[in-house]
Amino acid sequence: MGEFELIRNYFAAAPCAQGGEGVALGIGDDCALLAVPAGEQLAISTDTLVAGVHFADPCDPFLLGQRSLAVAVSDLAAMGATPIAFTLALTLPTVTADWLDAFARGLNAMAQNCGVRLVGGDTTRGPLSLTMTVLGRVPAGKALTRSGAQPGDLVCVGGELGNAAGALSLVLGERVAAADVAGPLLAHYWSPQPQLELGMALRGKATSALDISDGLLADCGHIAKASAVGLLIESEKLPLSAALVSFLGENAARVAALNGGDDYVLAFTLPPAQLPALLADGWPIHVIGQVVAGQGVTLLDANGQDITPQTRGYQHFRETP
Ligand code: ADP
Ligand code: MG
Repeated sequence: MGEFELIRNYFAAAPCAQGGEGVALGIGDDCALLAVPAGEQLAISTDTLVAGVHFADPCDPFLLGQRSLAVAVSDLAAMGATPIAFTLALTLPTVTADWLDAFARGLNAMAQNCGVRLVGGDTTRGPLSLTMTVLGRVPAGKALTRSGAQPGDLVCVGGELGNAAGALSLVLGERVAAADVAGPLLAHYWSPQPQLELGMALRGKATSALDISDGLLADCGHIAKASAVGLLIESEKLPLSAALVSFLGENAARVAALNGGDDYVLAFTLPPAQLPALLADGWPIHVIGQVVAGQGVTLLDANGQDITPQTRGYQHFRETP
């Protein structure tokens, strides 16, 4: 199969590549053309997933397609943006029809789920890796950035933490678990749901936001730094799923929630006055701490003792001390 045949059969022909709102011209020309409504800004983010680093190799291509797009779209959710389109740069060692068919179906399923259209990409030969660029729109000046947290704000998350990290030993085949435990954990890992609606609901309300990709403590550190504030997080308040606690036990579940990556749940800061209306609207918001004057992230136990761990999150290139 040649490059053009591959693009045509598996990507240009996918339902998610048939254009839609905001897409003036899709796959097939030198560039795609997007239309951004007047008064809105374009939000753009790129993510690369490398086989053996970001996902096990080999792995199920349907799940890989689904997960890699979810990870990329999650950055739009974190900015409060509405998805428009994405591009896919795919590097493949060999081309098998079965692999491509399953990958494209997984990609398409998540694209439909998120309302985002495939508008272009690149296809090359080499070690398996995927790069996705997602494009969204957000009313000018209303994007949720990392830099607006204020002392007195609440620190909140949009759902249970640690499930994807808890699933890792299952994904790698190091452990097994009964279906009622493995099922929910693996679902969080393989098909994280970008919190797009929550991100949009937080526009004009949250003072800062991001999606948790590297672990709660590490990512909250980004908010603390960008906003020049301190974040106090209460360990007892972390929302943990029943499946995670039953699989790992309470202590290890809490560690997964604090340090585990891949959750793609939103973390954000919110003036207390904004909370009641959002809860009344049914948003799954958990308050886990507060913003204070100062710097960095401090983890507190139930007695208010500082139990901040010394290492946090995953970094590809560690900062030199
Ligand atoms: P060019 O040589 O102009 O960069 P290509 O030959 O690489 O164009 O690609 C032809 C068309 O197919 C372009 O519109 C490009 O965006 C699209 N395309 C290539 N690879 C992919 C892919 N993996 N998924 C979606 N679209 C793709
Ligand atoms: Mg090209």
